[in-house]
Amino acid sequence: MRLINQNTESELSRVRSILDTVTDPEIPALTINEMGILRGIEIKDNTVIVTITPTYSGCPAIDHITDDITKVLAEHDYPSTRVALVLSPAWTTDWMSDEAKEKLRKYGIAPPCKTSLLDDSQEDPNITVIVACPNCCSFNTKLVSHFGSTACKSFWQCADCLEPFDYFKPI
Ligand SMILES: [Zn+2]
Repeated sequence: MRLINQNTESELSRVRSILDTVTDPEIPALTINEMGILRGIEIKDNTVIVTITPTYSGCPAIDHITDDITKVLAEHDYPSTRVALVLSPAWTTDWMSDEAKEKLRKYGIAPPCKTSLLDDSQEDPNITVIVACPNCCSFNTKLVSHFGSTACKSFWQCADCLEPFDYFKPI
């Protein structure tokens, strides 16, 4: 068995670049790093310890991501991997980079907005939620359903180009 260099910068950056190929199973356009799911990498006693924070407590994607991480590292000569889940602090859409949000828009999902005005979990009737259409950027959109393809997203439709789309809820 190859002896893995413990926590050296070159070893850690090698692991990081391997993990850059792991995508979010729900949004294949984005890697777990771009999503802000990947929180840390550590090497201890020949074991790679990958720390991740799930995007949403109800998302079943975590098992999938854990399998992908273990598999891809094993393929690259890291036979021993442990995935550690960190639930606190909870994942926030703020951890997504601007580039990641832009990719999300191109993929056809309206990216989460930082302002609490756009939090559609609030039931305040005085607050109007406006989400720009990822297809034509029109603000003339309407909420179809609070739940989109997964619980993390709500389902919207653009009144201008008629394109239906998912909106990634800010949490
Ligand atoms: Zn549109």
